[in-house]
Amino acid sequence: MGGNRRREPVPTPELRCVCGHEVQRFWPYCPHCGRSLTWGDSEQGTGAECYPCRGVASDRFSYCPWCGVDIHEEGHSSEQPLRAPKGFRRDARCDWGCGGGVQYPMRYCPWCGKPQSWNEDDDFEGDCPYCGRGVDDWMSLCPWCGNDATGRDLIPRALTQVRRLLRVAGIRDWGYRVLLRPGISGVDPRYPKIVEIEQRYVVGKRRRDEIPWSLLVGLITHELGHSFLYHNWRWTRSARFRRAFGEVNKAYRGLDDTWVYFQRRRVAINPVNHVSAYAARHPQEDFAETFRFYVTRRGRLRELFAECGQKHKGVGVYEKFLSVHEYIRTLRGWS
Ligand SMILES: [Zn+2]
Ligand SMILES: [Zn+2]
Ligand SMILES: [Zn+2]
Ligand SMILES: [Zn+2]
Ligand SMILES: [Zn+2]
Repeated sequence: MGGNRRREPVPTPELRCVCGHEVQRFWPYCPHCGRSLTWGDSEQGTGAECYPCRGVASDRFSYCPWCGVDIHEEGHSSEQPLRAPKGFRRDARCDWGCGGGVQYPMRYCPWCGKPQSWNEDDDFEGDCPYCGRGVDDWMSLCPWCGNDATGRDLIPRALTQVRRLLRVAGIRDWGYRVLLRPGISGVDPRYPKIVEIEQRYVVGKRRRDEIPWSLLVGLITHELGHSFLYHNWRWTRSARFRRAFGEVNKAYRGLDDTWVYFQRRRVAINPVNHVSAYAARHPQEDFAETFRFYVTRRGRLRELFAECGQKHKGVGVYEKFLSVHEYIRTLRGWS
């Protein structure tokens, strides 16, 4: 995202795709159904549309701001770049300094035809893993490029595996959403159902067949542990939970959850009272790690206990697994 331009907020009437979902003017795709949308001249009254893409244009333009084709016409197009012809706003100057004005979210400068970038950080919750433009967490498809805005199609095997493991462990879907995003992996307590996975692990230089999806399973399951706990926060106030994991509200610096910590399938020998070294960092990490082992080992308590015995784990670890196991059973109405 280049440029650091400010835009005036403009009240827009509610617009809907034929599928019924709300859309914003000039989105090329509906983020709900993926239909391509055309924004012609019906509202602006410029009397001009680009012939190839049917997007609203101006007789004064030399290039279509939506598809970038040359629409220069002798005697109509302005010989000098303009700020904003009739029917258009000037939200910013052309990125390339041609002197013309551009309106959000034009992809090309209508005067020099060069591609434009927009700072959408304040308008959207995240970036599309395909095109890098702004997307919101509820969007299934990117309104700009029409691809899967969640990036989940990049990690289908890992997600399928995690869903199967959760089902086998007897954990019902609590409405979580796993999203691929740039930045760090984690769950924001304000949005407990949104699990963000650092997209670098998936869309980096690695080829598709090199994706360490089995390692992603560990990372996703750990993050789901955080989400599950936020979703069942009342449980953290119970004596049983506190005895097992401690005080979850204890202050701690935000940790960068990266998969290198979560690739082990087996419980670590040290520390004695935690399933892994990472778990010892904070009660919330302790829970997320215990949850990860519980789920990736399919909720097989006997198998986990046997392993804990071999590794001389402390009683605290048994108590953690047991409280997770029993809590999940109460959620299902088993006892
Ligand atoms: Zn739609
Ligand atoms: Zn066009
Ligand atoms: Zn320009
Ligand atoms: Zn996109
Ligand atoms: Zn964590």
